[in-house]
Amino acid sequence: MAYYQSKPTAGRHFLQIPGPTNVPDRVLRAMDNPTMDHRGPDFGILGLRVLEKVKLAFQTQGPVVIYPASGTGAWEAALANTLSPGDRVLMSETGWFASLWREMAERLGLKPEFLKGDWRRGADPAAIEARLADDKAHAIKAVCVVHNETSTGCTTRVDEVRAAMDAARHPALLMVDTISSLGSIDYKHDAWGVDVTVAGSQKGLMLPPGLSFNAVSEKALKATETAKLPRSFWDWKPMLAANATGYFPYTPATNLLYALDTAMDMMLEEGLENVFARHDRHAEATRRAVQGWGLEIQCLEPRHYSSSLTAVRLPEGHSANGLRAAILEKFNMSLGNGLGQLNDRVFRIGHLGDFNDLALMGTLSGVEMGMRLAGVPFKANGVKAAMDYLAGNA
Ligand SMILES: *Cc1c(COP(=O)(O)O)cnc(C)c1O
Repeated sequence: MAYYQSKPTAGRHFLQIPGPTNVPDRVLRAMDNPTMDHRGPDFGILGLRVLEKVKLAFQTQGPVVIYPASGTGAWEAALANTLSPGDRVLMSETGWFASLWREMAERLGLKPEFLKGDWRRGADPAAIEARLADDKAHAIKAVCVVHNETSTGCTTRVDEVRAAMDAARHPALLMVDTISSLGSIDYKHDAWGVDVTVAGSQKGLMLPPGLSFNAVSEKALKATETAKLPRSFWDWKPMLAANATGYFPYTPATNLLYALDTAMDMMLEEGLENVFARHDRHAEATRRAVQGWGLEIQCLEPRHYSSSLTAVRLPEGHSANGLRAAILEKFNMSLGNGLGQLNDRVFRIGHLGDFNDLALMGTLSGVEMGMRLAGVPFKANGVKAAMDYLAGNA
């Protein structure tokens, strides 16, 4: 039963938006423990444990800063700690979230350059390399990309962006938004030479909203020494100083840290490789369903397909919002809406976090039944195609 619903409905709600995602019962139980004294002796022990464990999700040996904030806060922290007013940052228009990060950079007094995109693929490493190669004076101080563009279901190949920056021999920092990929799609902060990784709690990490993260490289730490953007709440320096003994400079979201501790245990127990393989498999089954319906996937580049969500285009003249409303009303399932220019054109199926084969089949069945109710033209082969794939690759 939902905490609040205006109409009594039996059974569980299907929360299949690409974040917030379903929180496992074990994580909910962990949160349901008494709040501790965040300055007491036991908190430091727990703090050190959680700060160490969370590094696994980023595949880093370096520090990870944890904020009591949504992902947007960690976006701001990444920029404010490393850059100065008027600095140029190179960003790529992969979709709605990349556009919001660009707007934020502008509001903070930076000079973002936006490489144009069509919202149907990830960032273009060749375009990044060409722009950096042109920037002989090294005016560009950071390259920012979104690993998994949640508005389109397209990923950016961060390894290729790193290679492009190296090929251009450009010293800019590399910053990556992994808010909807961390814990779902393979991501290597250290191996890919990322300077600041931005993440949030409520998507692949299987936690409620309320925590966000910066994984920080040595080069990024060095950049803080000359960075002139004003920062206070987001400042890494007092945070890292307190974190050294397991504490925080201000009150942390204590019960969400219990949740993080438990969610990291669950990921360790399943094994990161298995977590990624599970997401890849559910994404493939979903795409087969979409193809079976005769509908179009928003992402046009198979190498950029997202394993955490699939954005589905509706035929011209049909309303994605109408379809979502019908599915919510009849089958008690929430699907992601189209954001920005994709409003009413696409709906998004979240298949990330605490999720399994039958949850996916329930989700896809709800979509197929909903299309029938809403009068969307489709071929009735989608659910069957997904079942064939899952049963054939059990
Ligand atoms: C959800 C999301 C955000 C915004 O995070 P909030 O927690 O809502 O502040 C930013 N970037 C991406 C890629 C996201 O998926």
